Amino acid sequence: MTFTHSPADHPLLQPHESDVLRTVATFAREVVGPGAAERDAIEKGQVDWATVREGHALGLLRMAIPRETGGLGLGQLALAMVLEELASADPGMALVFGATGLFQTPLLVCGDPRLQERYLAPFLGPEPVLACNAVAEQFNGTDLVLPQNSPHAQNMTTARRSGGEYLLNGTKRYITNAPFATFATVMANLEDHPGSTGLTCFVTDLEQDGVERGETHDKVGYRTAPAGELVFTDARVPEENVIGDERGGWDLNVTVGNLTRVGCAAIATGIARHSLTRAHAWCGERRQGGRLLYEHQMSARKLADMAARVSAARALYVDAAVKADTILPTPAYEPAVAKLVADRAAIDNADAAMSLIGAQAFQRDDGMDRVLRDAYGPRIYEGSPEALALVITDELYDIPGVR
Ligand SMILES: Cc1cc2nc3c(=O)[nH]c(=O)nc-3n(C[C@H](O)[C@H](O)[C@H](O)COP(=O)(O)OP(=O)(O)OC[C@H]3O[C@@H](n4cnc5c(N)ncnc54)[C@H](O)[C@@H]3O)c2cc1C
Repeated sequence: MTFTHSPADHPLLQPHESDVLRTVATFAREVVGPGAAERDAIEKGQVDWATVREGHALGLLRMAIPRETGGLGLGQLALAMVLEELASADPGMALVFGATGLFQTPLLVCGDPRLQERYLAPFLGPEPVLACNAVAEQFNGTDLVLPQNSPHAQNMTTARRSGGEYLLNGTKRYITNAPFATFATVMANLEDHPGSTGLTCFVTDLEQDGVERGETHDKVGYRTAPAGELVFTDARVPEENVIGDERGGWDLNVTVGNLTRVGCAAIATGIARHSLTRAHAWCGERRQGGRLLYEHQMSARKLADMAARVSAARALYVDAAVKADTILPTPAYEPAVAKLVADRAAIDNADAAMSLIGAQAFQRDDGMDRVLRDAYGPRIYEGSPEALALVITDELYDIPGVR
C-alpha cells in the first residue's frame, strides 16, 4: 500500500525525531490500535492507564520539553506527525497525550524558567502524570477562542487579587484529562473586566483546597480520553503562577491556539487516514458484479478522493508545522487552513468508508461506528469552521487583532 507515508523519513526531521516517529508508529500499530475497541467501551471518565504508562515510557507525556531537560525535544512537525500516527490508531489516545502537551505549551511559550522548572519536571519522572488546559465553560466556548467574541462572554471564571495571590471562582467544562489531571492551565477573567477581556492564564495545582472535579462527561466519541468539569471555589493561586502577564491571556490563547491547531489538523488527518486504510483493504477484497470494488469506476473515484483528502490534509499541516517551527510570531493563517481542511477530511472519509464497506461497517463490532463518532471531534474543538473562517478572512484582509 503506497499511500501511507513513512513519516520518519521526512527530510525536515532531525535524526532524533525520526527515531521517535519510528517507535511511535510501532506503538500505534501494535498497542494503541488493537486496544481501540476496548477503550471505546470504557466507562465514562476512565482512562487506560496501562497504555498511558507505555506511552509515557516512550516519552509521549514530555514530547515538546527540550532534550536538555529530559524531554523528547520534538518540534511542531515531529509533534504533529506523532499525533497523526496515534490518531490513525485511536484519536482519543492522541488526545490524552496531546492535552497534557497542551498544558505544557503556555509554559514553554512564555519561557519563565521558575514555572518551567516547577511544572514541567513532574512529567520527567517514572510515573505518568496527566494535565489539562482548562479554557471552555458552559456559557463560553468560541467566546474564548475568538478575541472579537470576548466582550460578550458571560459568567466567566473569575480571578480576584487578594494580597500576593489570586482567588479563582468558576467552573470549566469539557476539559480533556480533567478527571485525572494533576495540573491545569486555567484561563480566568480578571475581576471587573467585561466579558473575557481580562483573560489571564494561571498554572494551577488541582490537588488543593478549593478545586473539585465536577461532572464527568459521557462523550459519544474520543471515549478513550476522559473529560469533565473542574470547579474552582476560592481556589488560591500564587501571583507567580500567572503565565505571561496579568490580562495577557488573549495573546497567549491566540498563540497557543495557532500552535495547537497544527496538532488538531494532524489528529484529523490520522482519522481520515484510518478510514482510507479500512476502505482500501475492503475494496481490494470485496467483489460485486464480478469485480473487486475498486475496479468499479464509481468506487475508484471515492477511494481516490479519500486518498487525495489525506494527502492534502497532511501537506497542509506539514506546511503549517514547518512555518510554526521557523516563524515568530506563530502564523495564524496556515494552522487555521490546515485544521479547516483536515476537519472536513476526517468527516468526509469516515462517510465514504461507511458507504464503501456497507452493511459490514454498520455492525457494532466492526469499529467504523467509532471512527464516525471520533471524526466529528476535530470539527468542534480548537476553532469551529466558522471561527476558523473568521481567522482566515482576517488574515486575507490583513485585519489585525480584533475584528
Ligand atoms: C473532544 C473534545 C475535547 C475538548 N477538550 C477541551 C479541553 O481540553 N479544554 C477546553 O478548554 N475545551 C475543550 N473542549 C471544548 C471546546 O473548547 C469547545 O467545544 C469549543 O471551544 C467550542 O465551544 P462550544 O462547543 O461551546 O460551541 P459554541 O462556542 O457555543 O459554538 C456553537 C456554534 O456557534 C458558532 N459560533 C460561535 N461564535 C461565532 C461567531 N462569532 N461567528 C460565527 N459563528 C459562531 C460556532 O461556530 C458553532 O458552530 C473539547 C471539546 C471536544 C468536543
